[in-house]
Amino acid sequence: MASTETIHDVSVERIYPLGATMRRVTFIPLVGPQPFHRRVHGGHCQLFFPDPAGVRLRRPRTFTYRRWHADGRFDVDFVLHDGNGPAAVWLRQARHGDNLQWRHGGPPKVSLAGPCDDAAVLIGDMTALPLISTLIENAHIGRDIRALMLLNDSHTQLPPVEPGRPVKISRYKTVSQVEAELRTMTFGQSGLLFVACEANKMRRLRRFALDDLELSGKQVITSGYWKAGLTAEEIDAAKRGPDWFADTNLSGVGHEQPRHSMA
Ligand SMILES: Cc1cc2nc3c(=O)[nH]c(=O)nc-3n(C[C@H](O)[C@H](O)[C@H](O)COP(=O)(O)OP(=O)(O)OC[C@H]3O[C@@H](n4cnc5c(N)ncnc54)[C@H](O)[C@@H]3O)c2cc1C
Repeated sequence: MASTETIHDVSVERIYPLGATMRRVTFIPLVGPQPFHRRVHGGHCQLFFPDPAGVRLRRPRTFTYRRWHADGRFDVDFVLHDGNGPAAVWLRQARHGDNLQWRHGGPPKVSLAGPCDDAAVLIGDMTALPLISTLIENAHIGRDIRALMLLNDSHTQLPPVEPGRPVKISRYKTVSQVEAELRTMTFGQSGLLFVACEANKMRRLRRFALDDLELSGKQVITSGYWKAGLTAEEIDAAKRGPDWFADTNLSGVGHEQPRHSMA
């Protein structure tokens, strides 16, 4: 469904590196203050980038609000990747004072803000690091959380965790390693498994959770954040085709479940 949100201009206030593979960009919206209900850490938005080939006017890409500042500025943590997509190309040459267009998306699909007896397991690659970090930061103080990060050696960033919180972060190079770890875990009735990463890996982990771990569909929330070898436009076009993933229970990129708060 087409978004009814208005498109506004934003200006780059600051860009700084987070390790070797990520950059944080602070944006100033060039409109009046956003209402507070929109300023949800971990929500998502679309940013519209210039087309590197100059064929289209602008090309939207989805990103996470890593953090909202009290004055209405917001941070986005971009993964530096080798692709030549419009977001990646823009990021390599972005400067203070650059303008982009921005459209608000919505809140995150998961909230861990309420108490819960059962653990929440969060799986993600670098593109989900901003969301997983904000979910942990804003989780209920006693919430038992396991974050399984799919990272390679160059990815040095991990979600920050306040000392004393029941949060465990671990890193894995392959989906098989994540699956092996998942087999050792016990999921209670209200246990939650959230996965956000590359779409093929997401799909495999979703099937594993449903078929091998026998979790219920309500417990498993998955989101393909990007897909190897395809641009965002190619993904959108493929999703309109009849054989997208050949699995009617799955979609590729974007969230798949209604808002879910296993609180
Ligand atoms: C809800 C949601 C929230 C997201 N939040 C963030 C976020 O906070 N930070 C963030 O960095 N990304 C985030 N993403 C992922 C981001 O939208 C995609 O990575 C997007 O495709 C990047 O656009 P692009 O123009 O660089 O590449 P595209 O033009 O879409 O693709 C060009 C090529 O680059 C490849 N590619 C795209 N992304 C990556 C990647 N991360 N690593 C390696 N290769 C890649 C593609 O497979 C393709 O071959 C989010 C996605 C969703 C759906």
